[in-house]
Amino acid sequence: MGIQAELRCRCGEVVGVVTDASRQTVNRIVCYCDDCQAFAHQLGRADLLDAHGGSDIVQVAPASLSFAKGQGRIAGLRLTPKGLYRWHTTCCNTPVGNTMGPAIPFVGIVAQAFDTGTQRADQLFGAPVGAIMGKYAIGEPPAGSTGLNLPLLLRAIAKVLGWRLRGRTWPHPFFKPKAREPVYPVSVLSPARREALRQHGGPHPQV
Ligand SMILES: [Zn+2]
Ligand SMILES: [Zn+2]
Repeated sequence: MGIQAELRCRCGEVVGVVTDASRQTVNRIVCYCDDCQAFAHQLGRADLLDAHGGSDIVQVAPASLSFAKGQGRIAGLRLTPKGLYRWHTTCCNTPVGNTMGPAIPFVGIVAQAFDTGTQRADQLFGAPVGAIMGKYAIGEPPAGSTGLNLPLLLRAIAKVLGWRLRGRTWPHPFFKPKAREPVYPVSVLSPARREALRQHGGPHPQV
């Protein structure tokens, strides 16, 4: 069994909890995709990206995540009308969970949110098990991050399927159970803004 892991935004207004936190119950990966990079830049939080533009993400079951404080300071952003829901705080623009709709149950939380001073993501979850989407990495793509990583993909699918089968979708931290509508306000980037953000992303950022 894992332990309760606290997550918090940079300023501490928003606090959440992940139950049953352990290496085995989550999937921790580094994602170099251009969307994750664009999201960080849109938030003004490029400080969360690694030197190659990677986002360190801890994927958990939706039902394991809940917010204890600051719910009024959570909002969602979609880079395109059908893109991932990327939830973040409005106090300090900290990402607090990427999700699809409830049909594909997972929440990807930026690992730094678990570094609270009394605990660290590395202690809770171990190091990332792999990296993906290296073709968008800035500079030389990190080893193993390009091409299809079949073991990593199968591990992610097994996790999500397992959560779905074991009823770990609900209660979902970001969707209402019956209506399946978002709990928090959601905005969608304009195509022009999404395009403008590309200049920050890899493999060859222009700014
Ligand atoms: Zn905050
Ligand atoms: Zn990504």
